Amino acid sequence: MRGRAVVKYKKDKIFKIISICKGGGYKYCRTEPLHPNRNSKGLYTLHRVLLENKLGRLLTKKEIAHHKDGDKTNDNPKNIVLMSLKDHSSEHAKIRKVDDIKLLCPICNKKFELKPTCYRRRMKRSLSKMLGCSRQCGCKIGHLLKIKLCGRVERITTSGSYPLNTRFDS
Ligand SMILES: [Zn+2]
Ligand SMILES: [Zn+2]
Repeated sequence: MRGRAVVKYKKDKIFKIISICKGGGYKYCRTEPLHPNRNSKGLYTLHRVLLENKLGRLLTKKEIAHHKDGDKTNDNPKNIVLMSLKDHSSEHAKIRKVDDIKLLCPICNKKFELKPTCYRRRMKRSLSKMLGCSRQCGCKIGHLLKIKLCGRVERITTSGSYPLNTRFDS
């Protein structure tokens, strides 16, 4: 027979973990019997194998072994939970949302959010240490800054009641 052999699984423990190695932020393992979804090196992600052993069945392509604490290297079986592909992406979107930095545009007073990495990168480049919600607002800040540097205005003011680039909650 060509390809991967069909394996019959015991109910309790499906795979014996023979060896473990790291790669791309995850741990991979070699199993016995060989995992039907193993890669070309004969390896499969450890956290999926652990969950499959716990459940006593293979995970489908639409099922995810999610690290509850967000730490992809914490492969404690208690930290690995079953999630559907759909729930999983919304769960991760939620986690990302919490980290986003909430800002107020000094030009148009619109609330906007930036990823922490993006915020730091843009702040580093920003001469005025203010960020606009859009390209246009960013240009206006740059323009106001130029006027300020020429001594024509004392201070950049906003039209709204918030100080420049106030961080706000929720
Ligand atoms: Zn996850
Ligand atoms: Zn704006």
